[in-house]
Amino acid sequence: MKVMKFGGTSVADQPAIERLIALVRAERQAEAQTEGGDARGPVVVVSALSGVTDRLLGVAALAGSGDVEGARTSLQDLRARHIKVSEVIKDQSLRQPVVDSLNREFDELERVVTALAVLQEVSPRWLDALAATGEILSSQIVAAALTSHKLLASYVDSRKAVVTDGEHTAAAPMFEETTAALMTHADPPLAAGRIPVMGGFVGATTSGVTTTLGRGGSDFSAAIVGACLGASEIQIWTDVDGMLTADPRIVKNPQVVPHLSFAEASELAYFGAKVLHPATIQPAVARNIPVRILNSHRATARGTLITGERPKADRPLTAVASKKGVTVVDITSTRMLMAHGFLRRLFEVFERFKTPVDVVTTSEVSVSVTIDDARRLLSIIEGLSGFAHAEREDQMAIVCVVGDGLHDDPQLAANVLRSVGDVPLRMVSQAASRRNITFVIREADLPAALGRVHEKFFATQPSLASRATVGKPVGA
Ligand code: ASP
Ligand code: MG
Repeated sequence: MKVMKFGGTSVADQPAIERLIALVRAERQAEAQTEGGDARGPVVVVSALSGVTDRLLGVAALAGSGDVEGARTSLQDLRARHIKVSEVIKDQSLRQPVVDSLNREFDELERVVTALAVLQEVSPRWLDALAATGEILSSQIVAAALTSHKLLASYVDSRKAVVTDGEHTAAAPMFEETTAALMTHADPPLAAGRIPVMGGFVGATTSGVTTTLGRGGSDFSAAIVGACLGASEIQIWTDVDGMLTADPRIVKNPQVVPHLSFAEASELAYFGAKVLHPATIQPAVARNIPVRILNSHRATARGTLITGERPKADRPLTAVASKKGVTVVDITSTRMLMAHGFLRRLFEVFERFKTPVDVVTTSEVSVSVTIDDARRLLSIIEGLSGFAHAEREDQMAIVCVVGDGLHDDPQLAANVLRSVGDVPLRMVSQAASRRNITFVIREADLPAALGRVHEKFFATQPSLASRATVGKPVGA
């Protein structure tokens, strides 16, 4: 049995939901034809229609500021959009109960925002109750849409099937309880040959209070459900072809990475691997369940597979990620050589000013670090001045070449650095995992350096890939 998770753009409107239906149908047929394949499933996990979670949180903000009218107007738009999208449910007798349920939810939300606007305060608990509505509604629409297209589905309420702690807006799943709840709510429809459809992102505490798993949490839901039900594969259907070997805004011909290990995916995460945050699929990886990233607009693309380990025979390097707008800070001890406790004092200053440090290199007398966020750098330099002298250099870039092969082939890191050619390397770092080699260069040199590394290690054929996945600067 597989879990198929569809993100917001894959349920955005009627055509998107029709594509989803075709994909689920194809999966059912493929499973039926596979010898020894179990005919159960898939379990479908959906996000809210694209943009809806942002809108609902906007409604909460309006209510919190006392703007009832603004909040109501937004809710009216959202109601109308959901009712329109529900036209994908062709069978009127299936559609009407969903429309009634939509109307009830929105009536309730209107009452809630009116009350919140009086209080002018939205607690995290209410924030979750509001935000969860997006997935509760999208999953009801998709369940009925599948059934009306002759794929018998059952709506499973995630507030019953996913049990979490009470940490609102960032709840953590309770696996034993969730497994039991899924056995009660998702297993019977599976056993009856139906397709359970549930909203991602949403859960509830043991006492039934609605929670959410944090933004982008639907992937996490898919991994939790897959892990608890022992799925054979988890598919993350999105709107890109998969992870790319490099940022297509910088490199001309990035390829889709066919297969990467979980550790490689984690190394790439820092660079804003927007497709999927590896932490969210951890429950799947822990159970050794393969995760596949696929494009719902181009089902023929092979996508990217993530597994605990990947075959050694594949290419040694997986991707090259990069990040612009980085500041290098060179810090030299003003005491003789590196005084004892120097590093501790140094990092304490960064900690005091809440500035994360990314790449670090050290020599006997100096330390270089990179930071993304230089807003508090003046205070940091001031804080360091008691024991060290610091200089900054802005407009730098980090390049991180990732591949499990670096671990096995001692020559490889040197070859990577050599391929950069005459571009000056400002810092070079390789951690004990030896799964990446990271270097810092001037931002102006990035296109040349990245182009050369990519040309040498990744460019094999012109790529059809269309969108960035790795190497996007975070927040870009
Ligand atoms: N709808 C939620 C969000 O936008 C969860 C998700 O889509 O993954 O954050
Ligand atoms: Mg997402």
